[in-house]
Amino acid sequence: MNKFRNRIMEAGVDFPACYQCGKCTAGCPVAFAMDYGPRQIVRFLQLGMWEEAFSSHSIWLCTACDTCSTRCPRGVNPAQMMDWLRVEAGRQGIVAEPKVKIFNDTFLKLVEKYGRVPEVELVIRYNLRSGQVFKDARLGPAMLRRGKLHLIPRRIRGIGSLRQVFKRVKQ
Ligand code: SF4
Ligand code: SF4
Repeated sequence: MNKFRNRIMEAGVDFPACYQCGKCTAGCPVAFAMDYGPRQIVRFLQLGMWEEAFSSHSIWLCTACDTCSTRCPRGVNPAQMMDWLRVEAGRQGIVAEPKVKIFNDTFLKLVEKYGRVPEVELVIRYNLRSGQVFKDARLGPAMLRRGKLHLIPRRIRGIGSLRQVFKRVKQ
């Protein structure tokens, strides 16, 4: 598991520096819903418990708000840690929150396609892929009437440049 240790540290996560003060978890707006707060996830890494970290729900529930990294007195960067663990867990096919992954993947696919997110297409694709076809469907008509939803998706200008960004990230 040393390969993970080196790679996550190269990505800017200094988990050995953590002295377990708990400021990250205390400020995390999602900690109430997590199975392990960011402080505990950092501790997993210090103890070499990589499987526990990869299989936690927390890494999928993190909203990347950066509060933990801002508060951390040791420069550990727990927000980057969550992001790195989520990407690596996804690569390994360990997905504790499948619907979150479906939403993230669908969202990014649409950004790559249009340069923005057409809400109607996002909801339809997400609902179909996550097996909850009519989720939030009753909100649609009212939102359409108020002009909050657009049925025809439009691409941004300069979509080619954006796709180059996606291509480079994938490489
Ligand atoms: S705030 Fe930083 S030092 Fe404190 S527990 Fe969290 S990661 Fe560790
Ligand atoms: S970045 Fe994630 S772990 Fe850190 S405070 Fe925000 S939601 Fe919590």
